[in-house]
Amino acid sequence: MKYTVILAALLVLSSCCQQKTVEQEIEITENQNEYNLQAVLYQQRAAENKALYYQAYNTAKLQLDVVLNSKRIEGKPLAIITDIDETVLDNSAYNAQLILDNTGYSKESWNAWCRLQKATPLPGASEFLNYAASKNVQVFYITNRSEVVQDATLENLKKFDLPFADANHIQCKTNSSTKEPRRLKIHEEYDVIMYLGDNLSDFAQVFEGDKRDLAADEFNASFGTQFIVFPNPMYGDWESKQIFEGANMGAEPMVKDSIRKAKLLGY
Ligand SMILES: [Mg+2]
Repeated sequence: MKYTVILAALLVLSSCCQQKTVEQEIEITENQNEYNLQAVLYQQRAAENKALYYQAYNTAKLQLDVVLNSKRIEGKPLAIITDIDETVLDNSAYNAQLILDNTGYSKESWNAWCRLQKATPLPGASEFLNYAASKNVQVFYITNRSEVVQDATLENLKKFDLPFADANHIQCKTNSSTKEPRRLKIHEEYDVIMYLGDNLSDFAQVFEGDKRDLAADEFNASFGTQFIVFPNPMYGDWESKQIFEGANMGAEPMVKDSIRKAKLLGY
């Protein structure tokens, strides 16, 4: 976003002491995604971020082995439900490009990125999901990518040998971003033992409302057991619901910047 500022009344004293006023016009270019720079760098460059993904997938494998060794039988085949973006596939290049291009998120540019099929698997994802497949545990991908990029998404998953990359194992967003009805559909036929996601809404409906912070405390014992959480400082419900409280996500960059600062907890 460009702001033109008139620097008025810059006084210059001439040699004969006459005053001249010089108006200088400067253009300040503000990158509307500057706020995301540190988060994207963390996601792309921090070894700690990589380690967090490994930690989460190692935890998932331990948990899966616990379930398999417990001979849990409910009469239904076992399944894992996983999110895709920032859980299985890394889209940080899309967020990096928004900063480089000084532009904001749009459905069009996001879908164009999805169609490129250039998202790479996150650390540990392929190993864990293929391990689950080797143990006859089915993997279902529930994503809020649009159905118009479903085929491209499946090709992207296939390209990196991620298991169950077929139309029967993926549910994209149709008219609602809530994943609950899509989860329930899978529950009808499968014993879902674990959920993977970078957004608490990937796990249960209780996290979708404005009490998500309290719900995280309430379900503390489920993290690392039933719910495997991955880091995503770039975007998510934490930003739209807890920082902008829904209504202000579309506000002007300067307004959003003020809201962010107002949310800081100093001492
Ligand atoms: Mg995600």
